[in-house]
Amino acid sequence: MAAPTRYDVDRDELATLLDGTPRYRVDQVWSGLYEQFTEPDDWTNLPKAMRAELAERLPSALHLVTESVSDDGQTVKFLWELDGGSRVETVLMLYSDRATVCISSQAGCAMACGFCATGQAGFTRHLTVGEIVEQVAMGIRRARASDRRVSNVVFMGMGEPLANEGAVWSAVERLHGDIGLSARHITVSTVGIIPGIRKLTDRPLPVNLAISMHAANDTLRDELVPINKRYPIDDLMQACRDYLAVKHRRISFEWAMISGVNDRDSDAAELAELSLRVRPRVHVNLIPLNPTPGFPTVGSSPKRVYEFRDLLRAHGAVATVRQNRGTEIDAACGQLAAGQPVTLSTERR
Ligand code: SAH
Repeated sequence: MAAPTRYDVDRDELATLLDGTPRYRVDQVWSGLYEQFTEPDDWTNLPKAMRAELAERLPSALHLVTESVSDDGQTVKFLWELDGGSRVETVLMLYSDRATVCISSQAGCAMACGFCATGQAGFTRHLTVGEIVEQVAMGIRRARASDRRVSNVVFMGMGEPLANEGAVWSAVERLHGDIGLSARHITVSTVGIIPGIRKLTDRPLPVNLAISMHAANDTLRDELVPINKRYPIDDLMQACRDYLAVKHRRISFEWAMISGVNDRDSDAAELAELSLRVRPRVHVNLIPLNPTPGFPTVGSSPKRVYEFRDLLRAHGAVATVRQNRGTEIDAACGQLAAGQPVTLSTERR
């Protein structure tokens, strides 16, 4: 196994790794990582020689390739290179009342949803706990530079978190136990991997669950979200109901609006009906489809997005339109491809 990086180890493992170091020194290192979110060289309460040694023994997992900023400085996208050369992205979004870090759980993704840039690029590998947690640490560091505190973490970057549930869960525990984020401010988004949802149901912390639905009948969903063939809608709804029964949380259904494909009046009726089946706590999040190079179909017009929201509400569903962030730096939902070339469709917009 590769040597651990600085956020791979938990507190006890850090003490073991720094065997022979006095306890108070280990605490200082831990505070550098989990309270200050700084580099070993900044830990000036430690002797200089020790800082240099720590920098070597606790290497960073993420090597910054580029940092792009948009929305007047309120959205920042980081492109990282990982050990072995794969690349992933992390997005920090500052809002007036909160700051959210959107993190990746895999390099690439095997789920192959045609409208998603990550899906178009295919799967490379799972991320480790250290690679996941360090993305949050870097988001916190960057937010602090703007005098902001990160309040929310969403597993909505590259990859399918529930296909890497073990590492994702260890990361959730670290975010909760060591960084101090409450479970209700952590959201795991999934295409609907039922065994993964069942595992989350059995885990102790009540994180929020977001389901990338995009279609409310199996025929259309088989096409848009291919894993639906393995985990069809009826079974998925049962897993959602069971999750809610245990966690007393709200589940959200994500719905990227694709013109003429899933934005018809009949889609609104079906979706509303589906969301009411998981009563009473489903919230539909409408995402205007963001452009990706490999998908020919365009997003619904802003007018249609709001009409669709109103239709859902008329049918009794709870629905909102997601504020779009980072489209001009390819940082919006479904646009993360880590600079990978994706097959260009001839029908490109
Ligand atoms: N694999 C997980 C985590 C990624 S979350 C999941 O799919 O839930 C990324 C979200 O953006 C998902 O809801 C995804 O369906 C949505 N998305 C993908 N491509 C998109 C696009 N082109 N426009 C808008 N949303 C998109």
